[in-house]
Formats: sequence, structure tokens, C-alpha cells
Amino acid sequence: MSRRVYIETYGCQMNEVDSARILSLLQGEDFRPADSIADADLVLLNTCSIREKADQKVHSKLGELRAWKRARNGRVVAVGGCLAQQEGSRLSARAPHVDVVFGTHNIARLPGLLREAESGKNRVEVDFTGDTSHWDVLPYLPGGATSAMVTIMQGCDNHCAYCIVPHVRGGEISRRSPEIVSEVGDLADRGVREIVLLGQNVNSYGRKEGEISFPELLRRISRIPGIARLRFITSHPRDLGPETIGLFGEIETLCPHIHLPIQSGSDRILAAMGRGYTRGEYLRKIAALRDARPGIAFSSDFIVGFPGETEEDFEETLAVMEEVRYDSAFSFRFSPRPATRAASMAGAVHAEISGERLSRLQALQEKHTGERLAACVGREMEVLVEGKSARNPAHLCGRTPCHKVVNFSPDPARDGQIRRVLVRSAGAHSLSGAEGA
Ligand code: SF4
Repeated sequence: MSRRVYIETYGCQMNEVDSARILSLLQGEDFRPADSIADADLVLLNTCSIREKADQKVHSKLGELRAWKRARNGRVVAVGGCLAQQEGSRLSARAPHVDVVFGTHNIARLPGLLREAESGKNRVEVDFTGDTSHWDVLPYLPGGATSAMVTIMQGCDNHCAYCIVPHVRGGEISRRSPEIVSEVGDLADRGVREIVLLGQNVNSYGRKEGEISFPELLRRISRIPGIARLRFITSHPRDLGPETIGLFGEIETLCPHIHLPIQSGSDRILAAMGRGYTRGEYLRKIAALRDARPGIAFSSDFIVGFPGETEEDFEETLAVMEEVRYDSAFSFRFSPRPATRAASMAGAVHAEISGERLSRLQALQEKHTGERLAACVGREMEVLVEGKSARNPAHLCGRTPCHKVVNFSPDPARDGQIRRVLVRSAGAHSLSGAEGA
């Protein structure tokens, strides 16, 4: 009799794709998705440890799962992802009701670990084995999906001072390009129109393995029939090169949006972070992207309150935002992570000050996002439908090539995955419109 699994995913897109791959892997072991934790026989947490808050969320969930497990014999709890990798046996010591703890390089071992756990042996496996055989398992794809994320590499060799990723995902390992091209071809055959290539630093794809370059990978994928839109995340500003920038002017299906995390606008802080570029170099790449693809949209990541950050440093971050006018941004207060250089750096910024800076930064970004959205009103835009609108089930929801969310009233006489929508109004974070008006 098949068992039911409930997967809870924390953090980034990498984890979302790993969870979809884990679901496929477990379907091969006669598991099927459960609608809720209450219905499940196995609860699997795919965790994140990018900030302290992420840890706390997982531990409070594990607290809840203690009673869930006791409520019925045979229930199993498994924890994977970055916090599992970071904590390993400390996690099962702290939460002995966890049956399996598996690391970011041990996903393929999960079925075996679950079998061992069912014979009553709690299992912890978090070695950096470099095993990426789980990449051979195609991620679970919901019916009707028009967009899909495809992992091209994992890990990172950069060791930015604040970042835990290299410590929990290991060094860069790139996937073989024929496998990536074949997975995209399979997705196109299954009706997917948009591909998002994933990696912590996609610009260094294939360097260690003597693979084709990232620009060449983009070219090959853009030639796959059926793929109307191509995106990638995450780019490192130091490694984003002129060839990739040039492709924004050459490949029509390459969407006019790029996520280019600057983190800070201060050269002094960028140096302390070990980012490897200056504000000037970063802004020259923004200008080159605008030349290659006029109207291209930008998003970024920001950290405020990095050790030693002064008001002047912070003002330089706001100045960069004024110069680029990002369409959107993710922003956070500095959170010291175990084993990172920044965790032991002097010059901690008081929580009140970093909180105040974060509010100022987010208020400025809210203003810029609003301006960017308002500029779309009255324009007709192509929208890739992602599903029904959460606001109004009679409406549809999707994204423009510039990655803006649009809720719209469809023309009943039309169908298709890509629709032309006249934008009628702009909200704080999305657009509204009507098809074919
Ligand atoms: S490039 Fe990104 S993932 Fe890599 S260490 Fe720096 S912040 Fe972390």
C-alpha cells in the first residue's frame, strides 16, 4: 500500500527544485504526495540556513512534529537541506524524534536511509560526497505547469564573508550540459514554455569540469523548440562577463530581466564582504546590460548592518538604488552564520540601527517598484499564464517577460499559454489588466 509524504520546503529556489526531485525519488518508492501533515506518513523538511531566522523556523516546526509523530505508530520525520547539512547529528540530538537527517550531497541516499530508519535505526548522513546522482531524477512537475526551474550546478567557490552556502552546499559542481539540454527538451515536450536555469553562481558554470561555457549553454537551450522564455539565477556581478551581457541583445527568448545581487553600495563594505567588485564596476555592467537590451528590468539583494557599516556606507547603498532604480529587491539585516568570516568580525551594528536602515531601504525600494509598475499602465504586455488568479478565480495570473506579476480578466474566446494583456492599473507589487481589450 502506498504511503503519503508531506514535504515542507524552506528558503530558495534551489531547495524548491530539490524538493520536487525528492518527491519524484520517493514516488519511485511508492510514496505519493499528502495534502496535509495530518494525512502524511512521512514529513520531510527541506531546510535553509541562510539566516538565523531560518534555523528558528525549522526548530519550531520540529517541536510541533514531536506530537504529530507520537499520535500514530509508523510515522517518520526526515530533515534535509542546508540546516541538516550544517547541524548533522547535533540536530537529531536536539530532536531525537527525527528519524533521518540527510545532507545536500546525500539526496540520492534518501530511500535507503528511510528503509534503515524503518528498522528502528535513526540515520544521519551529511558527508560532502560530491554525489549528484539525484540530478538523474526528473523533478516532479505539476500538471499544466508553464514554467520550470532546471538546476545546472550546485555549491559555490566564492566564500563571501557572510555566506553559509559554501559551508552547506560545498564547492561548485556543474551538471553535464547534455543532461541539462535533454531535461529542458523533455520539459518542452511536456508543455513548459519558460525555463529558469538555477545555480548559486551560474556565470561560473562548467569552469571546473571543462564543460561548455555558460553563454554557450544559453545558446543551446534557446534553440530548443517550444521554449519561449529563458531566465537564469543567480549571477555574480564579478563573473557576469561581456559575452553573457551581449546575449541579451542577441537571444530574443532570453527574458529582459536579470537578478544581479550587489549586497551593498559601499566599496569599503564590498571589500569586507569579499565580493570581488566595486560599485563602479557593477554600475558599468548595469549600463552595458541596458545598452544590450533597452528596457531590461533589474532586481537585487541587499544586506544592511554588515559589521563596520557606517551611515555613510549605507547612504552609498541608497545612492546605488537611486541610480539603478531596481524593479524589485530582497533585503535583509546581516545575520552572523556559523563558520563564516563575518561571524567573528568586529564592528557589530546595533540591531536598532540596522532595523532602521532596513526600513529606509525597503521604503525606497517600495517607491521604485511602484514607479516601475505604474509605468506599465496603458501598455499591452505578453503574459505567460501560471494559473488562476489568487484574487479572483475567474481571472488568470502570470508574468511578463520583465518578471512582473499580472492578474487579468481573460477573453473567453481566446486560450493559449501566452496572452496579450492591456495593463489597466498597478498595485504595490503587481499589475491588473484585461486580455485583448
Ligand atoms: S556568491 Fe552567493 S552563494 Fe556564493 S558565497 Fe557569495 S553570496 Fe554565497
